[in-house]
Amino acid sequence: LDVIRDVEPRVADAIAQEVTDQREMLKLIASENYASPATLLAMGNWFSDKYAEGTVGRRFYAGCRNVDTVEALAAEHARTVFGAAHAYVQPHSGIDANLVAFWAVLSQRVETPALAAAGVRQVNDLSEQDWARLRAEFGNQRMLGMSLDAGGHLTHGFRPNISGKMFDQRSYGTDPETGLLDYDAVRAAAREFRPLILVAGYSAYPRLVNFRLMREIADEVGATLMVDMAHFAGLVAGKVLTGDFDPVPHAQIVTTTTHKSLRGPRGGMVLCDDSLAEHVDRGCPMVLGGPLPHVMAAKAVALAEAGRPEFGTYAQAIVDNARALAEGLLRRGAKLVTGGTDNHLVLIDVSGYGLTGRQAEAALLEAGIVTNRNSVPRDPNGAWYTSGIRIGTPALTTRGLGTAEMDEVAGLLDTVLSAASAAPAAKGGLSKAKHVLDAAVAEQVAKRGSDL
Ligand code: PLP
Repeated sequence: LDVIRDVEPRVADAIAQEVTDQREMLKLIASENYASPATLLAMGNWFSDKYAEGTVGRRFYAGCRNVDTVEALAAEHARTVFGAAHAYVQPHSGIDANLVAFWAVLSQRVETPALAAAGVRQVNDLSEQDWARLRAEFGNQRMLGMSLDAGGHLTHGFRPNISGKMFDQRSYGTDPETGLLDYDAVRAAAREFRPLILVAGYSAYPRLVNFRLMREIADEVGATLMVDMAHFAGLVAGKVLTGDFDPVPHAQIVTTTTHKSLRGPRGGMVLCDDSLAEHVDRGCPMVLGGPLPHVMAAKAVALAEAGRPEFGTYAQAIVDNARALAEGLLRRGAKLVTGGTDNHLVLIDVSGYGLTGRQAEAALLEAGIVTNRNSVPRDPNGAWYTSGIRIGTPALTTRGLGTAEMDEVAGLLDTVLSAASAAPAAKGGLSKAKHVLDAAVAEQVAKRGSDL
């Protein structure tokens, strides 16, 4: 830090404060984690200075042999960990990975036949007239994905995101009674809408998805099944999600982030079958510029970690902890979307405490518990205020907390939310929530002799 402090002390201070915050607060954001020192060190080094557009062994810049080494290693570990035919590790983020995947499917399904019909191999060689026809065809394609309020992600066709502009989009939701995915409803929507891409995967759905059934639906309507496993990739790597719940054997294309439950550096990745590999590898220059060699080095390290047996133990502990957290909350009377969890996340409907998601998020933060507000299905408060708080266990599990501590965390959450609810924010409720939490923690520390 002293090296940074010599140049810009405020950055050094912010980094130091961030480390303190992440150590002292309870990190319950379902999409966050703590990467290992090996991963962080692989990311913070001279690889950052290198340009390497292209793919392994076929670069548009000289001097890329070391980048080739780390990119090939990251892809090899990814193929091994997930049992995938092909891995593309260049995307800078989950959004980039999804864009690469959308264009790969479009290019395989729309561009390739159009090029063949025009008798050319490269898009650049198309006549103006054929290019205009092709562009019109791209814009005509349909995507069916999970709706945002049911737990889907912005990139699954939500209007303000580019995916909602690239595609004519429709979404499927969850059953209003149970909150669970209704595969018959997905099938009916797919039959009627006939999408080119059926997207499965989520950011805030606390249950498992049967990808075998989703592939059946995709096949029936001639769609490509794309699974965005950004949130639960760690559970797939750790072999907690297997059989029908492992997306890799079922989907033609799978995207992920590398920084959530997978516990790697911030970044994205695409896995696919052989038929899509050459289209996915065109991510640069189709969507991406130069890859981030330092991040690919860190992906190689994190994926090597994810291939070790202890990562399986970690992944199982994430799910055990989430279940314990949900049970602890339910026992204290909290209202949970779908009534519980099967994965790493829990969605609390805080209307049960008389709060909006925004009020609950603020009260918890003031008490040192970091969460994020989230819509619940058919949320009456909209996407800004929301009625939900999404929590997840990947980060606290990395810190070594187990199921007994999860029950205490459930107690802390309930204490703060009840206190905030008893005295609304406008009347100083947040300070009261903090005061009540401090007293509750002091009581627990006295009881257990621990400093949770
Ligand atoms: N896909 C899903 C399912 C996500 O939850 C997220 C992150 O929130 C993304 C994609 C986007 O990832 P990133 O923030 O790295 O672009």
